[in-house]
Amino acid sequence: MNKAKISLINKISSKTNEEVFLMFKLIGDFEFKTGQFVMITTNIDNKNIKRAYSIATTNKLLQDKKQIGFYVKKASENGVSNYFTQIIKEGDELEITGPYGHFIDNEEIKNYLLISVGSGVGPILGIYEEIINEKNNFNKLVNIFSEKTEKNINGIIQKTFNSNDEKVKNILYLSRDKVEGYRNGHIQDGLQEAIDFLGTKKIKVFICGKPEMVDDATNILLSKGIEKNNIISEKY
Ligand SMILES: Cc1cc2nc3c(=O)[nH]c(=O)nc-3n(C[C@H](O)[C@H](O)[C@H](O)COP(=O)(O)OP(=O)(O)OC[C@H]3O[C@@H](n4cnc5c(N)ncnc54)[C@H](O)[C@@H]3O)c2cc1C
Repeated sequence: MNKAKISLINKISSKTNEEVFLMFKLIGDFEFKTGQFVMITTNIDNKNIKRAYSIATTNKLLQDKKQIGFYVKKASENGVSNYFTQIIKEGDELEITGPYGHFIDNEEIKNYLLISVGSGVGPILGIYEEIINEKNNFNKLVNIFSEKTEKNINGIIQKTFNSNDEKVKNILYLSRDKVEGYRNGHIQDGLQEAIDFLGTKKIKVFICGKPEMVDDATNILLSKGIEKNNIISEKY
C-alpha cells in the first residue's frame, strides 16, 4: 500500500452541481491499474474522514502528466461527497492511500461491454479511455450509461463517450427525462442491442453502480449466455 498527496487543479460540475469531475495534481509517486480505487482522507470540521473513490483517469495519465481524476456524486449533506461537490477549491490538498480493487482488465478478451449508472461511471471513464485511446487494441466496445436527468449529466460524460462507429457504440439513457441525444429508459433496455452489436458472447463486461442495478444486469447477461467469469462488477 502506498500513500501520496494530491492537490486540486480543476473541477467540472453538472448543471445540478451534484456531479463533479475533479482533476488533481499528484505530489510524490503513485501507480495503479486503471479501474482501481483509492481511499481519500479529507479533513471536514477538523475531523479526518476516509472514503473510497474509484480513479476515473488512467495510470498512463498519472505517469505521463502527474494527473489523477475522480468522479463524485453528492450522496450526503455534510459528508465527503458534499465536500467534493460543494466545498473543495483549487489548491486543496488531500491524502490518498492504495490502490485497491479487482476492477481491472486482464486483456484476454477483445470485445467489451461497459455498464454504469450515476457515480458508477467513475472507473468506467478510466477503463474506456485506456481501451479506446491509449491501447486501441480491441475489437468492438459498447458503453451503456444512465443518469436520472439531462441536468445530472457532467460535461466529462459528453466529452468522453462521444464515438459511434463500426467498432464503438455509446448508449446513453436518461431514466426520468426525454431529451434529444439520449434515450429514455434504463441500462437493462440496451443489453440485447449491445450483444448484437458485439456479435459474440465472448465479451468482457465491466459493471459499476448501485447493487440492485449490478445484480439485475448481471442476471440478464448470464441468462443471455455471457460467462460469469467474464463479468467484473463493483457495487457502491
Ligand atoms: C470501492 C468503492 C468505490 C467508490 N467510488 C466512488 C466514486 O468513484 N464516486 C462516488 O461518488 N462514490 C464512490 N464511492 C462511494 C463513496 O465512498 C462514499 O460512500 C460516498 O461518496 C458517500 O460518502 P459521504 O461521506 O458523502 O456520505 P456518508 O456521510 O458516508 O453517507 C453515507 C450514505 O448515507 C446516506 N446519506 C447520508 N446523508 C444523507 C442525507 N442527508 N440524505 C439522504 N441520504 C443521506 C447516503 O445514502 C450516503 O451515501 C465508492 C465506494 C466504494 C466502496
